[in-house]
Amino acid sequence: MQTKLLINGQLVAGDGPAQPVFNPALGRVLVEINEATEGQVDTAVRAADAAFESWSQTAPKDRSLLLLKLADAIDENAEELAKLESDNCGKPYHAALNDELPAIADVFRFFAGASRCMSGSAAGEYLPGHTSMIRRDPVGVIASIAPWNYPLMMVAWKIAPALAAGNTVVLKPSEQTPLTALRLVELANDIFPAGVLNLVFGRGQTVGNPLVTHPKVRMVSLTGSIATGSHIISSTADSVKRMHMELGGKAPVIIFDDADIDAAVDGIRTFGFYNAGQDCTAACRIYAQKGIYEQFVQKLGEAVSSIKVGQQDDPETELGPLITAQHRDRVTGFVERAVAQSHIRLITGGKAIEGNGFFFQPTVIADAQQDDEIVRREVFGPVVSVTRFDDEAQVLAWANDSDYGLASSVWTQDVGRAHRLSARLQYGCTWVNTHFMLVSEMPHGGQKLSGYGKDMSMYGLEDYTTVRHVMFKH
Ligand code: NAD
Repeated sequence: MQTKLLINGQLVAGDGPAQPVFNPALGRVLVEINEATEGQVDTAVRAADAAFESWSQTAPKDRSLLLLKLADAIDENAEELAKLESDNCGKPYHAALNDELPAIADVFRFFAGASRCMSGSAAGEYLPGHTSMIRRDPVGVIASIAPWNYPLMMVAWKIAPALAAGNTVVLKPSEQTPLTALRLVELANDIFPAGVLNLVFGRGQTVGNPLVTHPKVRMVSLTGSIATGSHIISSTADSVKRMHMELGGKAPVIIFDDADIDAAVDGIRTFGFYNAGQDCTAACRIYAQKGIYEQFVQKLGEAVSSIKVGQQDDPETELGPLITAQHRDRVTGFVERAVAQSHIRLITGGKAIEGNGFFFQPTVIADAQQDDEIVRREVFGPVVSVTRFDDEAQVLAWANDSDYGLASSVWTQDVGRAHRLSARLQYGCTWVNTHFMLVSEMPHGGQKLSGYGKDMSMYGLEDYTTVRHVMFKH
């Protein structure tokens, strides 16, 4: 197993303290890996800074070729990467291999093409005797900080646009799930020049902090919690670094009386519970209209209780464990506090599953009210709440009455209503009659406390560039 950091083209062991990395399905330590020291973080940032001059001047078509090679290497090593991901997250192997790995390779292929297609919006004479042009140039050294829920996918979302735009990167994967990132940088090291991509392993406090505050880091790109995002913004405020923040979510799912109820139930069974609900866009905050409410709750309860929980190598498994024992206890706390309220009905699930792994039953909570904690806060587990609503105006107000602004969905047969709501929902994405579907060509990112900046799409590429004006006097 590859456990070394990548610094300036060299795979080197961390010189800091060892950290355990778990298999959460078995509740067992897989491997111990040494963290980077502050000195190693500094060396990695300086290597990235030194590599910037040459990489930023490399022609887009040549950067593109290297990204395509990395995509091919991901395909060639897909089974190994999927096994590492599934062992480290407990997620079903078949889902990692068939859903995640192809999407990860596609992100690199998309940005390989996109890097050759960047355009400036104007060139001309805006002052007599002068020609202006607009350039989009890379920013410099990017600190890319990734979370644990889709470890390799989040790494791809961060490093592909950054490298495609001509930046150099120091990547810090989550200390809980570093294994696929460690293997990826080993593959990348055979492809990219030394220093272009570096990896430091370790916790936020010990390794993330010195990385994001390093004076030579020009931009921080984080996917993580709101608490970490706001801490990084405030701790780097003095140096006015660029920020790209993909933070939490609490997606409203609005189901009208005229919706195809079976399709909505099926959609929530899939999109509320995929990755054990550890997904920032998870279909978790359901509003169902009064006419279909009881029927919907009953059907959803039946569907969710049929979800197969199990070990990651079982091809039948649909739902794996939560990432840590601590996170399972956090999810348990949310559910216990919710069901202790007299107005709440527990429809199915509700408990942690006995055993060594960190499993939690797929859970449906009905009759939740708008001000309940279970409606307002991100649980990040296999738990959905259902709230009854009367009409369009009420549900629109409730859906937007949230600190979060990442993803939302509307389920209705009425095209006019779907358009009205899509125009008014304060979320980075609104799906109609589906949820959760992402493609490399379309932007993903939030509003409000869910953050700012876009992943994927041409907007993602632009986020890793700076707009510049160059003027010529005739
Ligand atoms: P987290 O904030 O605990 O950790 C994210 C990363 O930040 C980790 O690598 C961690 O080590 C690092 N970090 C922590 N403190 C740091 C510091 N002081 N300086 C630098 N780095 C630091 O989040 P998590 O628990 O790993 O991930 C779950 C969260 O991520 C959820 O809130 C989820 O909604 C969010 N998420 C958002 C998206 C999105 O696209 N918006 C996608 C996936 C996950």
